[in-house]
Amino acid sequence: MKTIYIATKNKHKIKEIQDILDDININAQPFPNFANIAETGTTFEENAAIKALKLSLLTQEFVIADDSGLELDALGGAPGVHSARYAGVHGDDKGNNAKLLQDMEGVDDRRCRFVCVIALAKEGAVIKTFRGEIQGTLGHKEEGENGFGYDPLFVTNSGQTMAQLTKNEKNDISHRRLAVEKLKIFLKHMEN
Ligand code: IMP
Repeated sequence: MKTIYIATKNKHKIKEIQDILDDININAQPFPNFANIAETGTTFEENAAIKALKLSLLTQEFVIADDSGLELDALGGAPGVHSARYAGVHGDDKGNNAKLLQDMEGVDDRRCRFVCVIALAKEGAVIKTFRGEIQGTLGHKEEGENGFGYDPLFVTNSGQTMAQLTKNEKNDISHRRLAVEKLKIFLKHMEN
């Protein structure tokens, strides 16, 4: 059975990835003693690849790393790779949402998407990256209590924000889900 180390400390991400890969012959585990790696790239692909590559030099197992965020068409793709620190402080969800609403005040084109890119690497080489996207529109105020980050502003096709969906409803349609499903198909073919 192949082992894949996941480059994150986030227990929810680990569980989500393990659940999706459950029915193929993959042992997905958190990267041992994972320490954050600076995201110095200008694209999600670059950031995911930088992280996966660096960590893959420390082990002989496969490594996956991800980068994700929100892109607004009207803002030329911003916040993009700066999603976590859009308002200046890493992980300030309230501040990020307030800044985004301000930047989008009076803007009619509210099309946006969540993007997640996963990079798969082994022993110093990136094998492939996998991109998942979900399209939506930016609301005019925060709605819903679930999720995190930009979820209360992200209006899905159903008309509900991501934060109004249950965890399972979100996980079924999320950008992360789609990226992991693509990874899964690739891993399945590698097995044969
Ligand atoms: P990371 O790639 O997990 O570090 O996510 C970067 C940032 O993108 C987060 O801090 C959030 O601001 C935003 N983001 C990524 N995925 C989601 C999501 O599923 N919901 C809401 N915000 C997200």
